[in-house]
Amino acid sequence: MFDNLSLKLEKAFQTLKGQGTITEVNVATTVKEIRRALIDADVNFKVAKEVTDEIKEQALGKNVLTAVSPGQLLTKITNDELTRLMGGSNEEIDLTGNPAVILIAGLQGSGKTTFSGKLANYLKKQGKQVMLVACDIYRPAAINQLQVLGEQIGVEVFAEPENKNAVDIANKAIKFARESNKRIVIVDTAGRLAVDEEMMNEIASLKEALSPSETLFVVDSMTGQDAVNTAKAFNERLNFDGVVLTKLDGDSRGGAAISIRRVVEKPIKFISTGEKMDAIDKFYPDRMANRILG
Ligand code: GDP
Repeated sequence: MFDNLSLKLEKAFQTLKGQGTITEVNVATTVKEIRRALIDADVNFKVAKEVTDEIKEQALGKNVLTAVSPGQLLTKITNDELTRLMGGSNEEIDLTGNPAVILIAGLQGSGKTTFSGKLANYLKKQGKQVMLVACDIYRPAAINQLQVLGEQIGVEVFAEPENKNAVDIANKAIKFARESNKRIVIVDTAGRLAVDEEMMNEIASLKEALSPSETLFVVDSMTGQDAVNTAKAFNERLNFDGVVLTKLDGDSRGGAAISIRRVVEKPIKFISTGEKMDAIDKFYPDRMANRILG
């Protein structure tokens, strides 16, 4: 994960090797390299500029007549700034409600259905009574995919393959969940290949009808800058609560993980790192920053 970015950052810090102290000149050179590394990793340009300006200011404000070398100091400051940029600490999902409703939104292929299964599995392992709802009314294959996943993890899937009204399906599912004592309902929705009005209207009306305690936006981290733009478009219509970054096991360059929080002002709550049902992790900004810095 993020191998290229890690390597380039390491090279940036090496420009300080052998330097006894922090100076305007050596910090400027290093920070320029850090900024280039971030932009190459598809970090939003404005975000890359803001974070590197901050790193520079902090570095110049430190008196380094200590045991810490300039390289170590810059590494530490960068680590802290990346952590802050990605949100500081983990944010939990809200599971209030009877049942709690979690709405899953995102483009087609982003990993929504897979993530719905993973989240159900994750919550089930915590002893919670979970149910999945198939609201991807356009793709029978998606309904089937969710049913297969449900069977695999032992979680009930509510589906009405003939019904083409997503709000109606979800309302029936919630009624059914109440009757059968399910505490959490995860609603998998339809996506499109690109942001379009019809999809946005549908997911917005689902949100309005269901009042979910948590609306999660799922996005493929390998799509780089596009991931951030798509997040912006969904957030403007949906005002979602959190982001799920998928496919971090692939050759993602890291930009989405670093930029999304600052651009959309919503926390990343989970990451997905594979196709298997247990490839899900809560998102911890400090751990991610550590990984990025190798
Ligand atoms: P949806 O259209 O948004 O519901 O997306 P799917 O859940 O069907 O996922 C699209 C493809 O991406 C499938 O082949 C999944 O197996 C795959 N996929 C989903 N999440 C991950 C992930 O974290 N890592 C990898 N490598 N593949 C994933």
